[in-house]
Amino acid sequence: MGRPSPLEVYALLDKSNCGDCGYDTCMAFATDLLERKIRIKDCTHLMKDPKQAKNREKLIKLITPPQKEVRIGIGERECVIGGEEVLMRHQLTFYNQTAIFIEVPDDLGGALESTIKYLTDLKIERIGETLTLDGIALRCVTGDANTFKAMAKKVTELTNLPLMLCCLNPEILLPAAEEIKNKKPLLYGATIETWEKIGTFAVQNDLPLAIISSDLDELMSLSATLQKLGAKGLVLDAGTFFGPGNIAKTYNNIMQLRIAGIDKENPNAGWPIIGVPAAYWSQVNDDKELWQHQYQEVIMGAIMESIDTSLIVMHTGRHPEDVWALLALMTLRQSVFSDPRIYPTVEPGLYKIGEPNEMSPIFVTSNYRMTKIPVEQDLQGANIDCWLLVVDSEGIGIESAVAGGQFNASAIAEAVNKYKAFDNVKHRILIIPGMAARLSGALEDEADAYVVVGPRDSSGIPKFMETQWKPEEFMKEYESWKKN
Ligand code: SF4
Repeated sequence: MGRPSPLEVYALLDKSNCGDCGYDTCMAFATDLLERKIRIKDCTHLMKDPKQAKNREKLIKLITPPQKEVRIGIGERECVIGGEEVLMRHQLTFYNQTAIFIEVPDDLGGALESTIKYLTDLKIERIGETLTLDGIALRCVTGDANTFKAMAKKVTELTNLPLMLCCLNPEILLPAAEEIKNKKPLLYGATIETWEKIGTFAVQNDLPLAIISSDLDELMSLSATLQKLGAKGLVLDAGTFFGPGNIAKTYNNIMQLRIAGIDKENPNAGWPIIGVPAAYWSQVNDDKELWQHQYQEVIMGAIMESIDTSLIVMHTGRHPEDVWALLALMTLRQSVFSDPRIYPTVEPGLYKIGEPNEMSPIFVTSNYRMTKIPVEQDLQGANIDCWLLVVDSEGIGIESAVAGGQFNASAIAEAVNKYKAFDNVKHRILIIPGMAARLSGALEDEADAYVVVGPRDSSGIPKFMETQWKPEEFMKEYESWKKN
């Protein structure tokens, strides 16, 4: 079954263009529904009108991807995993990035509060995006049902992050799940021995459930059985193994599940996949140093992200001193899951940085996202009050755009006029990037400006400002040219 078209979706909508959903037309709704920007429940007609029940069911079937989406948690940090339509990102896009859950044991005692706060508040700003964690995997290490239940409750009181309850013993897992079931935790998980008890509880309470088996046939059979039981949100775990040959085995298992679910549309494999790099710590016991062990775990996390594993559970990362691990995983994830259909551009225009005055500098750059944002961050980081003139270079970086002609003197002069760059200052100086030095002569004529060539890399701007920014001198030179 191929990807449905907006017209096929539109055919099942009310077509009244009532606007209740916030869209002017049902066709616009159909387009964004396919892009997962909204959900079927956002169309009030389809949800409330009994006559439309058949169409609603048909629409759900039509737009459900071969790998179904599963939701963990509630509210603004609800975590959506899976839901992919393609094996490789370049075939369309990936919709839901690998969720990163951090393992927290149930014997943490006094450190619990600060740990949960740290994980909840962790934010990394990178090229215009805020990167955060997705959930907490509460792991039972005490073997005590009351402790696990009390900790589950406490953690939900301390955070709005989704929770995953990790315990293979139903006698311990289910009381904790019962306690916090209104927070929609992921139950981890059911095995061939426990599927009936845990599965029945998950179905009765509409909770997502991880099923675990390193034997893929057994995993598929568990999936089929639990779906027959009524399970609506399964997550597949084929095991995470370390040691010689085992990384390949782990990789192959994940890929086989993805191929079966997404390409072959096998309904038993068509669910999100979980990987547990944290399993490293229970499998390897040698005399390496701590950081060497942590590296092994983080490398497994990176491998899993690179093949679109839906969720990973990390042991390393709970402590602030281990933020390097999260930085690596979140940065890689940001790259792997960027949408290849969206060209990385920003709006051209004149951006104010800090509190510029009438002699503050005007820096010029391109509208390639990976250029404009780092330049802006470097300026902000160095507390330089200035203006940043972002020129439309068709989203191409400075060096290539100068070579290709998209970043040229006319385009910069046009931007100077369009965004009234000199209206805010009492000078006519433009600072262009070092990589665009060859444009300076033509730009002086076209923009009627004194052009200064800045550093090749924006990290050199603070030094440039210290040693080379002499606006009064530049303006004297400019005035003397004008006279001649
Ligand atoms: S609420 Fe439904 S019927 Fe109304 S415009 Fe939106 S999609 Fe169309």
